[in-house]
Amino acid sequence: MSETRIALVTGANKGIGYEIAAGLGALGYRVGVGARDEARRESAVEKLRAAGTDAFGVPLDVTSDRSVTVAAELVEREAGRLDALVNNAGVSGETGPGWVQDPTTLDLDLVRAVLETNVFGVVRVTNAMLPLLRRSPSPRIVNVSSSVGSVTRQADPAVQVGPVMAAYAPSKSYLNAVTVQYARQLADTGILINAACPGLVATDFNGFHGPRTPEQGAATPIRLATLPDGGPSGAFFEDAGVVPW
Ligand code: NAP
Repeated sequence: MSETRIALVTGANKGIGYEIAAGLGALGYRVGVGARDEARRESAVEKLRAAGTDAFGVPLDVTSDRSVTVAAELVEREAGRLDALVNNAGVSGETGPGWVQDPTTLDLDLVRAVLETNVFGVVRVTNAMLPLLRRSPSPRIVNVSSSVGSVTRQADPAVQVGPVMAAYAPSKSYLNAVTVQYARQLADTGILINAACPGLVATDFNGFHGPRTPEQGAATPIRLATLPDGGPSGAFFEDAGVVPW
């Protein structure tokens, strides 16, 4: 088996995903750049290669069964296995004034769209990639979540941050919960799966409002993608440590 470790990062054409790809590349990983738009994907691949990362493009729309199946076939052809999968692609869904998603007037189609990417997309991609991950001696899965998915924090007026987001925040709670179910199911396989909060990062996602850089946001996902054997699984981390559920 080749010594070079292989990673796939979804939504890797920009923002935090791009920096996760760059960081894993700097650690010597060969990185699949999962992205749905061809021009954005190819420009990210070129930029990563120029910076010394062994990157390859993986056309990938996480909301499409067909796209995900074809992406798994491509990774198999390109690399034969996967050592790290980072499920980073995510959407906030439309918001009202002040970035609010008001639960009392919530458009259920909006909720469905957010879940389709942030939850079903992660399950779809993870399950398609699992056969390739099982070929790795030390497989790792990272689900890029958010501390707004922490029900504990959302329910505590002392630590509540940001606007009410009745579609986005619960999508990350669901993602956290499903991460735990995966960890239970995959216990004893050697696959470690965890959720990561990047912190408040200035990206397209939030109109570039946020104190952290995408590179800083990538740090915890990269740490979890490169955990040593015997590391944690089924947990939720930010830079400062464990995030409460
Ligand atoms: P971003 O710059 O908007 O990047 C999001 C990425 O996801 C883009 O590459 C986007 O691709 C991709 N994506 C969206 N839907 C997709 C789909 N159906 N298929 C494939 N790719 C898709 O946002 P970001 O801030 O880097 O966010 C990355 C992750 O961090 C998300 O999961 C987000 O929830 C999480 N997060 C962000 C923050 C923050 O403060 N920024 C805080 C907590 C958590 P396109 O370019 O094609 O749209």
